[in-house]
Amino acid sequence: MKLYSLSVWCFAGLFLANTTIAQQSPTANYSFNRSPLKQGAYVQLPLGSIKAKGWLLKQLEMQKDGFTGHAEELYPGDNDLGPNSDWLGGTGNGWEKVAYYVKGLVSLAYTLDDPALKAKAKKWIDYTLSHQQEDGLFGPPKMKDWWPRMPYMYALQSYYEATNDNRVIPCLSKYFKYQLAHLDAEPLDAWGKSRAGDNIELVLWVYNKTGDATLLQLANKLKTQAYQWQDIFTNNKFHFYGDDYQPRHMVNVAQALKFPAVVSEFSAEPIYNTAMQKGIAHILYENGQPEGLGAGTEHMSGHSSVEGVETCTVVEWMQSLETASRVFHDAKIGDHLEKVAFNALPAQFSRDLKEHSYYTLPNEVRAADGQHGFNQDYGNGLLLSPYSGFPCCRYNMHMGWPYFVKNSAMATPDGGLAINTYGPMEISALVGKGKKVKVTEDTNYPFEEQIRLNVALSGPASFPVHLRIPAWCLNPQVSVNGKALPGVQSGEMLVISRKWNNNDKISINFPMHVETEKQVNNAISVERGPIVYSLKINQAVTNIKEHKVAGFYDTQIVPSSPWNYGLLLDNSKLNEQFKVVKGKMTDDPFLADQTPVELKVKAKQIPSWTLDQRGTSAFDVPLSPVPSAAKTEDVTLVPFGSQNIRISVFPTIGTTVWNTKHLSEDFTDNTAKGWVIYGGRWYYENNAINCGSIDVNNSGTGAKIVATGTNFANFTYSANVAVNSEGDAGLIFRVAKPAIGSEAYEGYYLGLNAQKGTIELGKSSNGKWVVIASAKQDLKTAETYRIKVKANGDKFEVFLNDAAAPVITATDSEYKTGSVGLRTYRALAKMDNVEVDAL
Ligand SMILES: [Zn+2]
Repeated sequence: MKLYSLSVWCFAGLFLANTTIAQQSPTANYSFNRSPLKQGAYVQLPLGSIKAKGWLLKQLEMQKDGFTGHAEELYPGDNDLGPNSDWLGGTGNGWEKVAYYVKGLVSLAYTLDDPALKAKAKKWIDYTLSHQQEDGLFGPPKMKDWWPRMPYMYALQSYYEATNDNRVIPCLSKYFKYQLAHLDAEPLDAWGKSRAGDNIELVLWVYNKTGDATLLQLANKLKTQAYQWQDIFTNNKFHFYGDDYQPRHMVNVAQALKFPAVVSEFSAEPIYNTAMQKGIAHILYENGQPEGLGAGTEHMSGHSSVEGVETCTVVEWMQSLETASRVFHDAKIGDHLEKVAFNALPAQFSRDLKEHSYYTLPNEVRAADGQHGFNQDYGNGLLLSPYSGFPCCRYNMHMGWPYFVKNSAMATPDGGLAINTYGPMEISALVGKGKKVKVTEDTNYPFEEQIRLNVALSGPASFPVHLRIPAWCLNPQVSVNGKALPGVQSGEMLVISRKWNNNDKISINFPMHVETEKQVNNAISVERGPIVYSLKINQAVTNIKEHKVAGFYDTQIVPSSPWNYGLLLDNSKLNEQFKVVKGKMTDDPFLADQTPVELKVKAKQIPSWTLDQRGTSAFDVPLSPVPSAAKTEDVTLVPFGSQNIRISVFPTIGTTVWNTKHLSEDFTDNTAKGWVIYGGRWYYENNAINCGSIDVNNSGTGAKIVATGTNFANFTYSANVAVNSEGDAGLIFRVAKPAIGSEAYEGYYLGLNAQKGTIELGKSSNGKWVVIASAKQDLKTAETYRIKVKANGDKFEVFLNDAAAPVITATDSEYKTGSVGLRTYRALAKMDNVEVDAL
């Protein structure tokens, strides 16, 4: 391939300096980025090029026999996937549901090369391709929403890759002309504005096929109309949009992770190269869960161990990382992708892939009906069912595994092949100067540390093989035909450029070791290689309802063995404290009873760690270390994705070190350490903490944020409080057992109500709000007041704006000690300058 080095070039008013670009080589094996797009990006191999084997194939086959193969029977309504769908010319309203489903269906059908699934997919695709409007609009003519067409275009893209159907590119080209002509009058909004990165990715894909320069205009227009995710990600602005929840809706956030990557292909602004990883760091710092995702139910919801992850978030997060891997070639993106795919994805599905749960929690001790107080709760979001939660995931989840397979290896513009994620697969591709290669991955990875690649060629060929070397691996080894390669570096893409002969062998050894990651409340999660481990819990599984499609149930899972363990770890080597027990590889490693790698570790039960006030969830993991007088036991840990109930955020056993003396928190740099959200929308802005609990019907009622490492008995506690709406806001203290819910805590609350002009001291007692004392004050909305409480034994004095005389004096003896925090009740509020001093 010829490379041209240009010192300066210009496009659409943007200047790039010292950029090396290449013209698309007429002999390129695939459609790589054309000029002026950024050169070097990998491209997807055509759908069907990668065949799953072993355990990975088993997941796809279960999907075919389960929720994908039976989706049209399970969801036959006019507004679902039924024959009267508007996507088939009927009178229904299939909106995103059909688009999501067809996207996953096409990718599964051609990955499995399954005639029945292909026929199903073709029904939808054929109707769409043969019913495009004169003006270019495709899909239901009355549906004027840009958004559902984005996932549908991925279906068309996949279908084209698999079939080369010559109707696809003209259809998309015509639609993009329609978009370019209509976007000014009908700009992106809501979901489309959030998810425009998808649209742009598809525009660039067609541009690389056709070279039509108007597509670059369209890409720029979409970029301009979209939420400015590069800024949101870089500067942690998810919560800066007031009542517009789109930028903090976690599925949007997951889906938008690809936005900076795709825009970086045509924009020279450096922010697009770094925004995704900065965004991920912000998301995980405030909402991170052990499986590598941010919690969102459905909006970003903090990092409590009993907050949830939506199935759509899992598959969209994966797809974004798949796209970003092609653009950035950063091995750490592949590490992250494997973590999500091998842990979060199987955890969202029932063991037979017939049911899913809308949300999963890192510490989920009941997969059952019941409210949790989530912002969007649905009541049945943790139940395993074809109908769990809101009807989005049940249509969107089908792409998870097949997209993972199809993105595992990519073509590189230097005529090579890049393997980004590993597993049992067979990759067929064109390499070098149009030579066919078949690379077989013989491995049970990630349930095995060795991967054996066989390179099958009809004759010798020179091309590079790019291999992702995981950052978690301390001593990676790669050899070719038995000869070890020097310079294999963790966390990098290893490039092996050589002349390959038929049946050359690459042997990969990624030794795995146990590591712990710090989680909420000083707790830990346990990892070994890409697998996150969770407590093996005996399960009582009940099919509580059989649906019309035989074999499909609502399934409740509750524990039949104790789950409230803390790990007993000491200062000796971690890998000596966890015993790795390897068993026989089975066809399905995501069954806890036959998973091939388990960990054994010493633990003790923590009797005070129980179900929460609602009884639908465990309390958040208690602050570690936790004392326990229980006997020492050996417990077994199994892969996170091998169970539908789990403990994966573990307390450790020991002596708790509380902060009992002094706490000063002014939220400098828009952050705070050790504060945990229990309901509501809390965020840092202008070096203060804000509560935007506009969703008052759910978690916004009685929103709390607690400094869980504090334990104050007698003290003065003061803070600045501005109540910006009706409702009240203020301080909580002597708090224990915080959970999501208005009165889901034990402890006292001192609240300021600006509109009513009251300051009120009360408590949550047995789940009920009890007023202890109240005083009238002349208060103004949005004005900042300094409120202070002095608590000494059973005596309380409340001061306003540091006046010498208390506005309230009262006595109460129910709670003696506990944590401090902040709370709002149906209010928007801003709080700052928290000062607590023990007496
Ligand atoms: Zn969803």
